[in-house]
Parts: sequence; C-alpha cells; structure tokens
Amino acid sequence: MATSLDPDVVEGMRVFAIPMRTRFRGITVREGMLLRGPSGWGEFCPFDDYTDAGSAPWLAAALEQCSQSWPTPVRERIPVNCTVPAVGPDAAHEIVARSGCRTAKVKVADRPDSLGEDQARVEAVRSALGADGAIRVDANAAWDVETAVRSIRVLDRSAGGLEYVEQPCRTVPELAQVRRRVDVRIAADESIRRAEDPLRVAVAEAADVAVLKCLPLGGVHRALEVAEACGLPCVVSSALETSVGLAAEVALAAALPELPFACGLGTLSLLDGDVVAEPDALRPVDGHLRVPERTPEPDPALLDAHAPTDPVGVARWLSRFSRVSAVLRRR
Ligand SMILES: [Mg+2]
Repeated sequence: MATSLDPDVVEGMRVFAIPMRTRFRGITVREGMLLRGPSGWGEFCPFDDYTDAGSAPWLAAALEQCSQSWPTPVRERIPVNCTVPAVGPDAAHEIVARSGCRTAKVKVADRPDSLGEDQARVEAVRSALGADGAIRVDANAAWDVETAVRSIRVLDRSAGGLEYVEQPCRTVPELAQVRRRVDVRIAADESIRRAEDPLRVAVAEAADVAVLKCLPLGGVHRALEVAEACGLPCVVSSALETSVGLAAEVALAAALPELPFACGLGTLSLLDGDVVAEPDALRPVDGHLRVPERTPEPDPALLDAHAPTDPVGVARWLSRFSRVSAVLRRR
C-alpha cells in the first residue's frame, strides 16, 4: 500500500449515524466515520458484516479521498437509476414516477417464494416508466441456478424486457451457468466487491456487466484498475454513503472511459439526513447527477446533529478505525 495511504494523515474524525428512510440491505441506520486529511474529507463506512480485513479497502478509499486527488473527469453529468426496494406495487409505481429517472433498479428475491410479489413490483415499475425505460433487477445472490433461470425468465416477461439481472447467484461458476441459459445480461456485483482479489476475479465468462463501488474496492484509482482488468462495461453504484462518500463514487463514474448504463448513485434520498449543508448537490435532477468539482464539506451543525446519541456508538467506530488502520499498516 502506498505510504500516502497511511492512516497517520488523518487530522480529525467524526462518527455519524443517520436513519434510513426505508429499511435497506437489512439496516435501519447508516453509520460510519468522516476522516479529515490534508486534501479534505473522506468517508469510512464499511457495513457491520465486513471484517477488519474486509474493511481495509474501505479505509484505503477514505484515505485516498482525504489525502489525494482524483483522475480528471471525462463527463459532466452521470445518468442514474432510481432504486425500488421490496415494496408493494403501488409504492413501487410512486417511487419510479416521482424519480424522474429513465432506469429503475428493482430489488427482487427479498425472501423465498417472493416471485409473485417480485412480478407485481416489476409490472408496476414498467407501467410507471413507460415502454422506453430500462428495468434491471437485483437478487443479491439469493437464488440457486435453477431458481435463477426460472425467475429471470418470468421477470423478463413481466418487465417487457430486462436490461440486466444483478448477481442472481452467489458464485462466479453459478453466474456463468445462468448466463448460458438465459437471454438477459448478467451483472456481477458481490462477485467483484467481495472477491479475495477484485483485480483477478475472472468474471468475463460469467457476466456481461460489472457493478463497481469504489469504497469497498479501495478507492477511485483502484476501482479504475478493476474496471480495466475485468474488461466489462461498468456501472457505478453507491454503498449508501453520505454526500461525502458519494462524491467518491461520482468521481469514479465521471472518470470511467465508457459509461453505457445508468449508475446507482441516486441514493441520498434513502437516508433521512445528510452531513453537508448543500444536500442537493448530489441529488439527481431529471435522472442525472452533476459531477461536483470537489468533495462537499461537511457542515459542523449537521455533524453534531448526526453524531450517535450513544457514546458506545462512537467508541465502537474509533476502535474499528484503529483496528483496520493496523490491518492497512501491515500490508
Ligand atoms: Mg447489487
């Protein structure tokens, strides 16, 4: 690891805990830390299910953000999708209609036997989007191969055509099997993000699209290397960051040589609050985000407002930071 990603560059840190508007990825409160370094702020926010070793790339990304510069953007605007959680058809219709986005990402396979509900949700999304919108579904690795093949065929019909299906099964060989049997594009998300070495995971035979999140991948520069190594068209997706971390994901989307699909970066609205005072900077307008020139500055009053009320919450993150820093230093 480059010396410039030394945790010693951190000059200040703040812990945040922001409630989610809708339960997402099994969480109701988004927690993390903001780190201040020589070039501004970075966000360190691994989910609870990441080990210390698994959190090291998240810390590398935060250190890159607060101590280095990003590559020059090649575009000024990023098309984004709206995100439809596992809600009923009426709520799904409303989320899509309100979003202004031309692409919707629909959560499916939220629990076993949800296919009927998934179908109804996808149909409602199609009716809200109209015929020319794009619908992708995300199964978060919930299906086995047979269930995936069957469900994808059903949902592809309900949607009147799917743009792609994200991570239908857990392993790369399973993705490859599903891909050979369905006509819908397969996108790899967890297979890349949670790989032992994302630079070496061979997804080319198993997927048509790579979903990249630069915080779990170790930063913008590293994610660009992963994009090049995997050789697939890429979609940038957020890890439910505040505006600070989201700015890093947008910097990645802005720097990718090609960006053929809408990105999953319209996620600020999933949080019931933010740490920056210009919260509209990274909210989509007409289905697009404007690429900011720099990471927005956290607002001191909002940092206070979103600090955990329980001192144990702060102590837990300080301890996590020092353990994960030790992992990074050993590399
Ligand atoms: Mg996903």
